Amino acid sequence: CGIVGYVGHRDSQPILLSGLSRLEYRGYDSAGIAVIDADGALGMRKRAGKLAVLRDDLTAVPMPSGTTGIGHTRWATHGGPTDANAHPHLADNDDLALIHNGIIENYAEIKAALVAEGYTFRSETDTEVAAVLLGREFRAHDGDLVAAFRAVVSRLEGAFTLLAMHKDTPGLVVGARRNSPLVIGLGDGENFLASDVAAFVEHTRNALAIGQDEIVAITAEGVTVTDFTGAPVEVEPFEVMWDA
Ligand code: GLU
Repeated sequence: CGIVGYVGHRDSQPILLSGLSRLEYRGYDSAGIAVIDADGALGMRKRAGKLAVLRDDLTAVPMPSGTTGIGHTRWATHGGPTDANAHPHLADNDDLALIHNGIIENYAEIKAALVAEGYTFRSETDTEVAAVLLGREFRAHDGDLVAAFRAVVSRLEGAFTLLAMHKDTPGLVVGARRNSPLVIGLGDGENFLASDVAAFVEHTRNALAIGQDEIVAITAEGVTVTDFTGAPVEVEPFEVMWDA
């Protein structure tokens, strides 16, 4: 029910966790984060329950830090609130992590097609279908994560905010939205993506609204927004006026 992404020069884990805590008011049943660490490995931790369960888990067994990461709080719609059904969902040999808010209406038919091709699944969620499909398309598009995203969103029906990152494209978080919110936060040598400005307003008040059916790619230095066909779109800057 909440989404946050970060690329920059700081350790992403505390930024993701505090961003998620600022989205807690929306309600959720599970939480998780994924980070590309300094050695280029992708780490992921997710737990059913409150954010405190995830925090305690990360304190007990720390995960290597890194400057690219995504975080999620889940309000289960497909599959019960279990660790396995929590997000992020991994694919492409666990080198890719994806999070999702919303409902993918046609997930069953996509899942059946992927299973027929030999892909396997570890959760009962509609979301994992998008993760596995993105892994497939990442390979089909020679490691171009944005092109892979375009191929994925053209197959999906329903409501989604999606964020993903891949170990082979460190320093990049890609997102897409349809019938579900996503905003960009512009920092200094760092950028944010979130379902709500509350997640990043403690870091920056400069925001960009992402329109319906758009794909956004953020790095530490810049932001690119296109429509689902890949055509560049005008983005609308605004300043967050309320107090953090
Ligand atoms: N439909 C997805 C799930 O059940 C995402 C739910 C959400 O928006 O948090 O896992």
